[in-house]
Amino acid sequence: MKNENKNNHKRHFTSTDLICVLLVIALVFLGLAEYANLHRDEIGKKIAEDLASSSVSTSSASASSLPTELTSTSSNLILVNKTHKLPDGYEPTDAQLSTPYLNSSTDAIRLKSEAAEQAKAMKAAAAEASITLIVSSGYVTYKEQEDLYNARVKLLGGGDNGPASTAIEKPGYSEHQTGLAIDFTNDAAQSTPTSAFADSDAGKWLYAHAHEYGFILRYPKGKESITGYDYMPWHYRYVGVDVANAIYAVSPDETFEEYYKISN
Ligand SMILES: [Zn+2]
Repeated sequence: MKNENKNNHKRHFTSTDLICVLLVIALVFLGLAEYANLHRDEIGKKIAEDLASSSVSTSSASASSLPTELTSTSSNLILVNKTHKLPDGYEPTDAQLSTPYLNSSTDAIRLKSEAAEQAKAMKAAAAEASITLIVSSGYVTYKEQEDLYNARVKLLGGGDNGPASTAIEKPGYSEHQTGLAIDFTNDAAQSTPTSAFADSDAGKWLYAHAHEYGFILRYPKGKESITGYDYMPWHYRYVGVDVANAIYAVSPDETFEEYYKISN
């Protein structure tokens, strides 16, 4: 009996002990679970913050609010400037480009087909007025623009706000990569046009008539702070006849940015 009591007592003690151990284990688990919850919330918050910041950097607020006609690569009105870059890897297809042979039957200058047709009509109209339009550049690939940009930086000096930054577009930021921009020159032997082009017969004729064929002077004089580029009297951009006429009606020096109320 004594032994039995002792045994009972011993068994009772062991049960209490076991309950205590289980309680401790349960508390430890609860504590760990709570810690894990807090930690998971922290990680979730961090992921949400990261997602929010990455979506801001990939699409600027101004780009998302622009109408599709200003952002679509298939549109004649695609906006390309210092803050609106072409999509990475964008190149028009061969089928979208044509070679209008604007200078001779062998030149290789290419433009988007509609712009090419209009450039041919413009060249013919200028010839009627005894003006010879000499084209120095049309469609430029990303790689060609990169080479041109690097050469100009070497010549003038680099840096985001350096001397070359207002003279030439960075690769990815050039209207020439759309096949809708065209450069003229007053000297066929001169690869880089100069501001003297403005006073040439061709420069004056273009300034007065290019809009009739759908082209606008893209970097006018006195609008450098808006376009971000030097006055380039040789650089015209195809936007279609209706829009070019409407822009010209405001002023021959109205910029694309002003007309569409785009703030950079
Ligand atoms: Zn140009």
